[in-house]
Amino acid sequence: MAKKNRDGTGAPLKPNTKLTVGGRDPFAHHGYVNPPVYHASTLLYETAEDFLANKGRYQYGRRGTPTSEALENAIAEIEGPMCGGVSLLPSGLAATSSALLSVLNSGDHVLVSDSAYGPTRKFCNDVLTRLGISTTYYDPLIGAGIEKLIQSNTKAVFTEAPGSLSLDMQDIPAIAQAAHAKGALVLMDNTWASPLYFAALEKGVDISIISGTKYIGGHSDVMLGAVSSTAALATRVKDTVQTMGLCVGPDDMTLGLRGLRTMGVRLAHHHIAGLKAARWLEQRPEVLRVLHPALENDPGHAIWKRDFTGACGLFSVVFKPMPQEAVNKFLNALTLFGMGASWGGYESLAIPFDLTPIRTATKWAPGGPCVRFHIGLEDLDDLLADMDRAFVAMKA
Ligand SMILES: *Cc1c(COP(=O)(O)O)cnc(C)c1O
Repeated sequence: MAKKNRDGTGAPLKPNTKLTVGGRDPFAHHGYVNPPVYHASTLLYETAEDFLANKGRYQYGRRGTPTSEALENAIAEIEGPMCGGVSLLPSGLAATSSALLSVLNSGDHVLVSDSAYGPTRKFCNDVLTRLGISTTYYDPLIGAGIEKLIQSNTKAVFTEAPGSLSLDMQDIPAIAQAAHAKGALVLMDNTWASPLYFAALEKGVDISIISGTKYIGGHSDVMLGAVSSTAALATRVKDTVQTMGLCVGPDDMTLGLRGLRTMGVRLAHHHIAGLKAARWLEQRPEVLRVLHPALENDPGHAIWKRDFTGACGLFSVVFKPMPQEAVNKFLNALTLFGMGASWGGYESLAIPFDLTPIRTATKWAPGGPCVRFHIGLEDLDDLLADMDRAFVAMKA
């Protein structure tokens, strides 16, 4: 990295500074602030000897360009000192599946949290099963109790904290300690907190997965994923990703780099506005419970407070028992909240969900119909007024 990008004292940089300097080397590019976008497949060699020797830093577009390197370096920067390598993937789901395929072989067993992202479960149930790899789902709240589920062929424990839709918190350090004691690796889907708010690799996770589609992109216009791992596993992950031929288009990587620069300030807003919206919803007579680990009365709060440094804008609400039609009326009356998959963009979202048919290791009985909210970057007062109107419409 260029000298002008370093802290003059050599002290470790703080997160927002890392986000602005990571993956940039202006004076290697005529002084331009941002790294150039390499649209590339073929890379030419000057001589037959060079070609035969694979000479040079880059070999072929799929195998990496200065653009992919810039984004990988920027993500490595925020993953922290335990990060031994980052691999980019064309989606968060591709990051999850590649991470699993990097460490599992036929005959192995993997433990997966019952709160894991739905498509992650489908990958385990369909593809891993076909490859002769068995999956056992476990109670997300298991903590050190994971030890009892580890078999002689258990190669990995897959975690996600807080869980998709349900937001239940996992004790990652306790799980990591128990897993490592029995020789199993720990994988984590760290999309919710991102490395900015949960230092997964410092807390015992061996492979940290993030959907860059969410807050790295931040504008609902890019699909992206990243797998970061400790040095011991970095080559294994990179080789697996490379061998499967997975790579990301240059424009998507550039959107990722652009998003990353403002991710710190955006997340700080999502954290505060999300928590305020959660507290406002908690007071509503229509609401039974708000699932948000940063709320003091949330069952996962103590762990969140101990291990996390922030929250994103994603949380769920359990309505008091009422027909689904009433919830639909509420959702249909919202004008500032969109309804759709994914999250992490600048815009607010609200979607209904039911985990009853999905959970297998635990029973999903929250006490009423559920809605997941993503609080975006709009003025919070406008969002609260919108919800207020929608609650009136719900009763009409
Ligand atoms: C969205 C999401 C994914 C998948 O990311 P895509 O980029 O949409 O493939 C994985 N895990 C979690 C927790 C997610 O929310």
